[in-house]
Parts: sequence; structure tokens; C-alpha cells
Amino acid sequence: TFRIHIAALRTAGGRRSLLLTFEDLSEQRVTERMRVDFVANASHELRTPLASLLGFVETLQGPARNDAGARDRFLTIMREQGLRMARLVDDLLSLSRIELRAHLAPETPVDLAGISREIVDSLTLMARERNVNLRLSLPEQPVKVAGDRDELLRLMENLVENAIKYGRRDGEVAIDVIDGATEASVSVRDDGPGIAPEHLPRLTERFYRVDTAASREAGGTGLGLAIVKHIVLRHRGRLTIESLLGQGATFKAIFPRLGPAPRSPS
Ligand code: ADP
Repeated sequence: TFRIHIAALRTAGGRRSLLLTFEDLSEQRVTERMRVDFVANASHELRTPLASLLGFVETLQGPARNDAGARDRFLTIMREQGLRMARLVDDLLSLSRIELRAHLAPETPVDLAGISREIVDSLTLMARERNVNLRLSLPEQPVKVAGDRDELLRLMENLVENAIKYGRRDGEVAIDVIDGATEASVSVRDDGPGIAPEHLPRLTERFYRVDTAASREAGGTGLGLAIVKHIVLRHRGRLTIESLLGQGATFKAIFPRLGPAPRSPS
């Protein structure tokens, strides 16, 4: 596949000509292009906190050498930048591990209800800081899928954390685990500002953010939803994202169900 760029030129002598350039868009080229972009983005994301860190080191060795107040403030910022780099490296490693295993479907029975309960417990404090109410709704029986426990915990953690971070302060986050005849799903719904439709298709791209400043402020790496997408795909499932501006967002991960279908209530 080629993309053709056409430009009309007028030479000095007044003669008109057309310039055609061909861009090779074969699948291999697209993949290669994505890889190059990814490395460039990742380097840039690491370079920013690193530059800030080095800047503070130099200031502390030079002008601020004897300023105890400045030292404490700078060390606090340096620690924050260091933590940001650590989070980024951890997320990059998680992503590459999941991708490496993309072709191996996980096989252990995992209970989505138990996973959701664990994540709600572990994020209660974070939710309290924003005065967000976490509401968990589960079927009575365990909801089994063939999965990788750590990856499913990670998936739920990323979705619920995002709902708390980007949802409404003093709002509510509803986590629903649903057991169907052939599929099992978890959905995470917030009542925050939501996401404009033009952003939805790109949300799971690496480093794609709707509001970069807000994401950085919240400690985001821009990789959370890319990780979620890869986990869902490795589990042979799918991810749906629904949102209307001003009306919150719903992220739903749907998996093939393991074992006999639940008895329908009679
Ligand atoms: P980040 O590390 O920035 O949180 P993610 O990949 O988890 O990265 O999310 C990508 C972007 O999607 C976020 O920066 C944010 O702009 C947007 N987003 C994610 N979840 C929500 C949500 N529940 N409500 C509104 N925006 C969201």
C-alpha cells in the first residue's frame, strides 16, 4: 500500500508542475513506524523528569549549596521526579511482558468477583482522598474466567484508579461484575466529566492522553489503558468504552466465560 502526496508547484519561469511523493504504507512499514514512534515517545517521557532531576542536582551543587530550605524543597521534587521515572519504567516493562505472552492464552481459573473485591479494598484509601464512593456489585457465585490473576488485578486496578482520578470529586464509582451465559464482564463507571467522542478511538494508544497536564498531575504515565487493552486481548476478551461529555465514562472488559453457565433465577 502506498500513500501518494500531491503538491502543485510553480517554478521561477512560471511553469506549473506537480510533485508526487509515494509513501510506503505496507503493514511492515506501519509496524516499524509505530515501533519507532513508541521508542521516541518513551525516551521523551523519560527525558523530561531526568532533565529536571539533573537540573536540581546542579543547583544543589552550585547556587543553592548552602541553602537548607531550598535543599529540602528540591529534594522533595527530585524524589517525585524519580518516582515518576520508576512508574514509567515499571509500566513499560509490564507492557512488554504482556506483549511477549500475547499468543499464550492464560488458562488458570480466576474469579472476577474476588479480583474486584481485592481492588476495591486496596483503593479505598485513594478513593477517600477524593471523597469518592466506591460501589461494588457482585453476583452471589464466583465468576470464573480463564485468566492470569496478576494481569486481571492490574486491569481492574488501572480502570478503578482512572475512575477515581478522572471522575468527579465527591462522586461515585460503580464496579459491576456480571455473569452471563457465554461471557463474563466487569464494568467500571464514574460520574465525572467524561470523554469527548473524538478521543475515544485513541484512548488505548500508548501515551495518548486527553489532558496531558491533568494526567501528569495525577501521576499518570499514559500507559494505563494500553496495558488494559493488551491484557484484555491476551485473555481473548474485548474492551468497550462509552462516554458522553459531562456524563461520566464506562469502561467494560468482557471475557469468555469458564465452566457451566450460571443458573438463571426462576
Ligand atoms: P494515564 O496514565 O494518563 O492515566 P491512561 O492510559 O490510564 O493514562 O489513560 C489515558 C487518558 O484517558 C488519561 O490521560 C485521561 O485523559 C483519559 N481517561 C482515562 N480514564 C478516564 C475516565 N474515567 N474519565 C475521563 N478520562 C479518562
